[in-house]
Amino acid sequence: MKRVRVAVVGAGVIGSSTAVCIAEALPMCSVTLVADKFSPDTTSDVAAGIFFPTEFPDVPLERQRRWVMDSFDHLSAIAQSEHAADAGVMLLSGWQIFKEVPANKKPFWSNHVMSFRFMTEAELKRFQGYKFGQAVTTLLCECSSYLPWMEDRFRKAGGVVESKKISSLEELNYDIIVNCVGLGSKTLVGDDEVYPIRGQILKVEAPWLKHFIRCGDGLTYIFPGARSITVGGTRQQNDWRLEFDEDDAKSILKRCSKLAPSLKRAKVLSQLVGLRPSRRNPRVEREVVQIRGRRVPVIHNYGHGGWGVTLAWGTSVDVLGLVRQCVNEMQPQAKL
Ligand SMILES: Cc1cc2nc3c(=O)[nH]c(=O)nc-3n(C[C@H](O)[C@H](O)[C@H](O)COP(=O)(O)OP(=O)(O)OC[C@H]3O[C@@H](n4cnc5c(N)ncnc54)[C@H](O)[C@@H]3O)c2cc1C
Repeated sequence: MKRVRVAVVGAGVIGSSTAVCIAEALPMCSVTLVADKFSPDTTSDVAAGIFFPTEFPDVPLERQRRWVMDSFDHLSAIAQSEHAADAGVMLLSGWQIFKEVPANKKPFWSNHVMSFRFMTEAELKRFQGYKFGQAVTTLLCECSSYLPWMEDRFRKAGGVVESKKISSLEELNYDIIVNCVGLGSKTLVGDDEVYPIRGQILKVEAPWLKHFIRCGDGLTYIFPGARSITVGGTRQQNDWRLEFDEDDAKSILKRCSKLAPSLKRAKVLSQLVGLRPSRRNPRVEREVVQIRGRRVPVIHNYGHGGWGVTLAWGTSVDVLGLVRQCVNEMQPQAKL
């Protein structure tokens, strides 16, 4: 039987996860991962990488729950395996704190992380001016380790990697195309709903900090990783600047030092900026596009905003289902 040729475009955390998912599950597909940037030069490499879901307004909750559960199970298995250090995936505990008690104290995903409870008075006492908090044990996935590890896993599953910028889908001669170009979807598929939310962070040396601290508005956070601590951040809508901003850096250090005063003495190791590929809801769906006179299935997987590391594996599993459907339609005798 002829192999089905699949192109996955984009090699951030979404494209890498999707490519691995398809290559490992569908041996009758030959999968090529095409991108103009790879680790360490993607937005995903800038992400702190904490597994911390949100609720999107128009995606059925059951579907969001599956994304969260599939992703957590996948990353949790890596954290519990001999590959944890190479893959940069680890358990992380800490606090999310709120100045006002939120309307929804127990989010839908609270049962799908390792543990979730409300903070005690003693815990809250550390944070002046905060009235409520959640103590969470979740995961951290550091993409600077995870992406190279996933690329290796992809090649072992028979995948091929190609470095190339795609200006039009017409350039791709494949049976199925999977679009994981994030913010690039604005130009590649003309989606005006996708927009950047600029994020700036600093990596600092403070090995004595072992718990994460996240403010409920998602703006200020401290996430301890394997070799450094990520402190952030900013959320600037429709701001395309990739340059580091000194005023933002001062504001980040001031805000984070209020939460953990010992950060005033921490050495700054590096400073990074990334543009979150944001959208009201992530786009995970199939359409058919006329390419060089052929009707080609194009499956989209982008627009995860500030939650791409969290949801990458879950949305990739959805894409795998859509690819499987396409293959079944092309080769009814294969019946996957
Ligand atoms: C400061 C910051 C902190 C964050 N922290 C977290 C966090 O703690 N947890 C979390 O879950 N998420 C976090 N995020 C969000 C996360 O980084 C994104 O959701 C995620 O990186 C999106 O991944 P992606 O693969 O869609 O995009 P990208 O990583 O941007 O990858 C896009 C890929 O597409 C390729 N591409 C684009 N256009 C083309 C083209 N025309 N031709 C060929 N290739 C193309 C690029 O080269 C790249 O390989 C954070 C983001 C920022 C900026």
